[in-house]
Amino acid sequence: MPGDTTKVNVNSGGAAQNTFDAIVIGSGMSGGWAAKELCDHGLKTLVLERGKSVTHIKDYPTATLNPWDFPHRGEMPLNVTKENPVVARCYAFSEASQHFFVKDKEHPYVQEKPFDWIRGYQVGGKSLLWARATQRWSKFDFEGPGRDGYAVEWPITYEEIAPWYSHVEIFAGISGNYDRLETLPDSEFLPPWQLNCAETDVLQKINANYKDRNAIVGRCAHLTEPKQIHLDQGRGQCQARTLCERGCPYGGYFSSVSSTLPWAMKTGHLTLRPDSVVHSVIYDDKKGKASGVRVIDAKTKQSTDYFAKIIFVNAACLNSNLVLLNSTSNRFPNGLGNDNGLLGKYVAFHNYRGTMTAIVPGFEDKYVYGRKPVGGMLPNFRNVRKQETDFQRGYMVHFYGGRGRAWGNGQNEIGGEYKDSMTELGPWNMFMMMQGETIPKESNHLRLSKDQKDEWGIPQLITSIAYDDNDEKVLKDFLTQGAEMLEKAGCKYISTNDSKQAPGLDIHEMGGVRMGKDPKTSMLNKWNQFHNCPNVFVTDGACMTSTSTQNPSLTFMAITARAANHAVEELKKGNL
Ligand SMILES: Cc1cc2nc3c(=O)[nH]c(=O)nc-3n(C[C@H](O)[C@H](O)[C@H](O)COP(=O)(O)OP(=O)(O)OC[C@H]3O[C@@H](n4cnc5c(N)ncnc54)[C@H](O)[C@@H]3O)c2cc1C
Ligand code: SF4
Repeated sequence: MPGDTTKVNVNSGGAAQNTFDAIVIGSGMSGGWAAKELCDHGLKTLVLERGKSVTHIKDYPTATLNPWDFPHRGEMPLNVTKENPVVARCYAFSEASQHFFVKDKEHPYVQEKPFDWIRGYQVGGKSLLWARATQRWSKFDFEGPGRDGYAVEWPITYEEIAPWYSHVEIFAGISGNYDRLETLPDSEFLPPWQLNCAETDVLQKINANYKDRNAIVGRCAHLTEPKQIHLDQGRGQCQARTLCERGCPYGGYFSSVSSTLPWAMKTGHLTLRPDSVVHSVIYDDKKGKASGVRVIDAKTKQSTDYFAKIIFVNAACLNSNLVLLNSTSNRFPNGLGNDNGLLGKYVAFHNYRGTMTAIVPGFEDKYVYGRKPVGGMLPNFRNVRKQETDFQRGYMVHFYGGRGRAWGNGQNEIGGEYKDSMTELGPWNMFMMMQGETIPKESNHLRLSKDQKDEWGIPQLITSIAYDDNDEKVLKDFLTQGAEMLEKAGCKYISTNDSKQAPGLDIHEMGGVRMGKDPKTSMLNKWNQFHNCPNVFVTDGACMTSTSTQNPSLTFMAITARAANHAVEELKKGNL
């Protein structure tokens, strides 16, 4: 019977054939890193991926298509967007990229409160789809929760994670400028992208007007100047096309498909199994530790157990929570490691509601060549060194300047005058958006449905996550400060907007299995091991104690590499 997980088949070769040194659940951004590090150290590693196989270059069917090659010129037909209201709200969902996104009906979940859950179920996960913005956290970000008391203390410091940032940055390839900011430490950079004239002008004027603000060139996971380590991965220089979410045949941006997974495969230690839906982690009461995972074949629905000494949970924040909540045993009747009842709680995200647009006067004789993948950015300047506003935490700002077609006199979008104007370039414009920190709260939680299951017999996830008053205040501050900054930079026609979008569309969900110092108030220790089940490591967004304001994936990668290397050390010592 499909999804009947009582019928367990330990495959024809028996347990030995299904036994590995390590199992990694999920092959995306963080799972790819776990696989690479474990395989580099000689561990026989099984990566289980619920989605289809994706091989670099071969499986990027739209990568080199032109707009006119698509039936709808790249736009999604109305019936598709109507049938998929959640994923259709994601800016990157298009006719060119839709094959890498989960459609709403294929994988239902229960929204107790509105939550746009954007997912990519395939080898590579969302690492194929991301916007590649990458910034380190600073010491202030790790110290914040302990200092201001809005979350439990982080069990790690910036100094501890810094070498692991370097480790992943050198391999992945991060472009950026050495800005020497205490609030946003530099990465190991490849050369930065050059901002266009409008961005440069606005950023320079903001910096001249504010002592506490440093607007800089965006940092991103693109190979502006590949080094030998990137050529060894079979990757080449970014061609500035910004068609990235289709998959890049040049390997110009970092994804697990172009980088960590093929690298791990070359070691000869990796077994990658797509179409393998992880149902749960198996806990062995006699051994007092996890012994493996139960998998349901995505196509045949047959259940198989796989065994390993260590297990890395990297299914992406919400799915990692789901798998762990579904991992019940005599020892852990409420989900793996869940003695304190906190599993699935303290979920947080990024507040993306505020945006603004403006016209940048001048530069009419200038245009751009190529499509750079980044704009400018402004690291958070609120409550960095001490609490100083009536709200907690703050926000990062992203800037994108550009120049499109003229649109007539802006009143009549019809007629000859309008058509003629469209052959001309319009003024330079600026788009600005916030990336606000949200406070992890017990009430923002995930749990399993008691009566609704998916096609594989696994309980559906219930999302109960919402904004709070603090988020409203942070938004208001951004809308006020952002407009003031643009005004001081000489911009005109400034227009502010609250999208009122639901949580989730930021695609930066974090928490539910948070790290901490105290087993009473957290799930994981400083090495991402369950306090009470140390051979299971959770190193994706689920492990995050707080969210800060930076794009999160670089931190997930560094945390994963660090934990994987610790796991190898512990295995060598016979501790796991
Ligand atoms: C459009 C878009 C833009 C983004 N922009 C940025 C950005 O600029 N910067 C940034 O830092 N982040 C960005 N992100 C977020 C970034 O993609 C994620 O933070 C990152 O991919 C998370 O890594 P992960 O390993 O946790 O999850 P994923 O990369 O999603 O990988 C998880 C994998 O686990 C698999 N899986 C799930 N459940 C199971 C199961 N039960 N069994 C087996 N396998 C399972 C999934 O199929 C998937 O392949 C963006 C995301 C999107 C979609
Ligand atoms: S912009 Fe660069 S990374 Fe993106 S698709 Fe083009 S070449 Fe590839």
